Amino acid sequence: MKFNTKVIHAGIEPDPSTGAIMTPIFQTTTYVQAAPGDHKGYEYARARNPTRTVLENNLAALENGTQAIAFGSGLAALDAVIKLLKPGDEILSTDDLYGGSFRLMKRIFEPLGITSRFVSMLDPAVFEAQIKPETKLIWIETPTNPMLNIIDIEAITGIARKHSIMTCVDNTFASPYLQTPLDLGADLVLHSATKYLGGHSDSILGAVVTKNQELADRLRFIQNASGAIPGPMDCFLILRGIKTLHLRVQRACENAAQIAAWLLNHPAVANVYYPGLPSHPSHDIAKKQMRGFGGMVSFDFKTDTTESAHQVLKNTKLFSLAESLGGVESLIGHPATMTHGSLPREQRQKIGLTDSLIRVSVGVEDSDDLIADLEKAFSSLN
Ligand SMILES: *Cc1c(COP(=O)(O)O)cnc(C)c1O
Repeated sequence: MKFNTKVIHAGIEPDPSTGAIMTPIFQTTTYVQAAPGDHKGYEYARARNPTRTVLENNLAALENGTQAIAFGSGLAALDAVIKLLKPGDEILSTDDLYGGSFRLMKRIFEPLGITSRFVSMLDPAVFEAQIKPETKLIWIETPTNPMLNIIDIEAITGIARKHSIMTCVDNTFASPYLQTPLDLGADLVLHSATKYLGGHSDSILGAVVTKNQELADRLRFIQNASGAIPGPMDCFLILRGIKTLHLRVQRACENAAQIAAWLLNHPAVANVYYPGLPSHPSHDIAKKQMRGFGGMVSFDFKTDTTESAHQVLKNTKLFSLAESLGGVESLIGHPATMTHGSLPREQRQKIGLTDSLIRVSVGVEDSDDLIADLEKAFSSLN
């Protein structure tokens, strides 16, 4: 089955009891048993819920995995992945990552004895020298947030395999429409389904996908034992969102490419970060491992101040000032004072995240209107 068919059909059957074509929302906590232990595969909804099962089967198919395990949020999914480790183990993570992932690693797990180091993965050889005997998980996020660097997944997972280290790719920014890391050697793929998979900015959910049965069993155990599960209504909303994933991401890619080209020619703009631009330092790797360049664009201004960024943010009308990404509507944000506020300024500067850097999540509106909106907001500069 090809991807555009999978989003509609993979793992999804009409409800056997009624024929309902949409997966029902099984809003129930428990299931009646004919005799003790004699049930239909469902006993208690923390362990299993039929709406969640359908979503998990669909996600497994989209990522070319065998199993998906769903959680109450992307960070709950990351929390479960880190619980595969034990005190004394180390996570070696990319240094340009989602602020909440950084916070979870540093503030929750470090006091419990699982440490994290943040390094560049842009040069695989330089990266390999950073591996230590206690390194037990390599955490890859690509495209990175908000600098939109591209990490060569196949190169990094190849190194990890040589050292017998587990790898997980946060695939939130690309979505499985553009990139399937399990095909590139990753052991685990993580999603904040809150973003592109859901696509309508109306529910929070996370998932981990794998084709490794042992890891799937351990994550399934953590899902039930720690209990950070998503509710059935949220599973339904994400399933509904996924049905148009291919259409939405395709349009977002087209719009983002036009906006990036326009930004490149604007006199007030200093740098444009979009992996689809031939001038982007990792354009060739993006072309190799992705089927499109995504809907995220970052840029900064020649007048590199927080004030110039805030001036623009105040003046856009179609681009709404908000955290998050991946919805049908375009969003604009200022990482230094918003999503990446929990990252120390020194760390931000090191990765090129300047004070004036703006990140846009391009939606599926008309690109002419989006560019006109930015043009007007930029005229408020100087
Ligand atoms: C949003 C996001 C997360 C966290 O997901 P939640 O669903 O908000 O918990 C993790 N990684 C990336 C790349 C994200 O954008």
